[in-house]
Amino acid sequence: MKLTVVGFWGAYPEVDSATSCYLLEKDGYQLLLDCGSGALAQLPKYTTVMDLDAVFVSHYHQDHIADLGVLQYHFLVQNAIHHTKKVLPIYGHCEDEKAFAKLNHQATKGMAYFPNERVDIGPLTITFLRTKHPVPCYAMRITDGESTVVYTADSSYQDTFIPFAKNADLFITDCSFYKGQNATGAGHMTSEESAIIAKKACVSHLLLSHHPHFGDRKQLKKEAASVYQGKINLAESGFQWQPSSS
Ligand SMILES: [Zn+2]
Ligand SMILES: [Zn+2]
Repeated sequence: MKLTVVGFWGAYPEVDSATSCYLLEKDGYQLLLDCGSGALAQLPKYTTVMDLDAVFVSHYHQDHIADLGVLQYHFLVQNAIHHTKKVLPIYGHCEDEKAFAKLNHQATKGMAYFPNERVDIGPLTITFLRTKHPVPCYAMRITDGESTVVYTADSSYQDTFIPFAKNADLFITDCSFYKGQNATGAGHMTSEESAIIAKKACVSHLLLSHHPHFGDRKQLKKEAASVYQGKINLAESGFQWQPSSS
């Protein structure tokens, strides 16, 4: 399994970068996790967009779905140019009916996932955990049977992340605030809260993502390192992870 950070900002993108979007690959199977603003301008750096097999969205905030419409146009136009009829499945929860309906398009098909049902897709298995956020949002635990990636999506701190992220090889967190700030009010986490979960869940590698647009972001890593002694990276465009054994 290989993960590439396509976008890592919270809220809105900065120059030549994107908000939440991650590409997960296994044996040629390609899954996109969230598709935030700017993602479609970054994604061709890492793959052929038409080769995507599925998209999973955690929730319907714009910094996670803004480029879904752009992705739909990409499929529409490329299908027309190449006389193909590819249809991309886009998985989302259906607790927001209007937002879920928009996953359907000429070249995409909305697929519902449910909190208590695992999804087996290609070589991957995905399970879900409801997060603490102003709108329904789901964290995902993705495994290929050999290694496991856990993505908190957007959430304030909750203890249930600890069993959910247990022994993950890679743990991608919402790190929207600095240590000592109140992230809970906004439905997000601090560097310290990300690290507390990483430590208690005994994950192998912490990837701090969903970054703030203020302060010195290098500080986020230092703050996390004071709590969690494992490997830590700040998400950046193009950051790639593979399990250390492969
Ligand atoms: Zn967000
Ligand atoms: Zn959100």
